Amino acid sequence: MGCCHLLEDGDASVMIDTGMVGEPFFIRRLVRKLGLRPDSIKSILLTHGHLDHAGNLAWLKQWTGAKVYAHREEQRHVDGTYPYTGAARWCGRLEAIGRFLFRYRTAAIDEFITDGQELSFWGGLRVIHLPGHTTGHCGFFSANHDLLFSGDMFASYFFNVHKPPAILNSMPEHFPESIEKVRRLNPSWIVPCHYDYLDGALHRRRFAKLYGIQWPAEKQSAGAAPLEFKL
Ligand SMILES: [Zn+2]
Repeated sequence: MGCCHLLEDGDASVMIDTGMVGEPFFIRRLVRKLGLRPDSIKSILLTHGHLDHAGNLAWLKQWTGAKVYAHREEQRHVDGTYPYTGAARWCGRLEAIGRFLFRYRTAAIDEFITDGQELSFWGGLRVIHLPGHTTGHCGFFSANHDLLFSGDMFASYFFNVHKPPAILNSMPEHFPESIEKVRRLNPSWIVPCHYDYLDGALHRRRFAKLYGIQWPAEKQSAGAAPLEFKL
């Protein structure tokens, strides 16, 4: 599924999203491989509370003892109590089935984050509130790497770069302002939650094409800074 990223930073490592069923095995294996301990992960950031992002939140929080950061509006998604309306009701139905099948457990967000907030993790991550997919959907921008973790603003696969389908978007009317925000930010690299290869410059090009953004070709810094995070 590719719905979580571990930002390696020794004993202050960070997990962005927590994935879904089956992923605890891969997360455990990766933590071991990197020579980290479970409690090396001190923070869990949620881009939003959909089941494929918060699926392992309760387990990961317990396993690591990490603090959970997300937008206040996402707690209802995490709890499975968000009142979906219109086409998005299908999302609610699918999540309800998923929660039942995977014996999902909810968990509390420990600290609510807001737009523009600077988090000290991984050399600095700025919260970029990008509503549309959900009300409290957030991206995380690393100025050090000029890299935006863009959550579910789009999915980026070879031959299939797409906006999230209508049934998955709770606040579609907010999408244009969020796209505009990313356009103005103009990061060198974009890393979505669903993609084929870990190539931030490629995803930036795909994002621009999908939403008709005229960014200058490739930014100077693209490809220069070493990426220290792993899937
Ligand atoms: Zn989602």
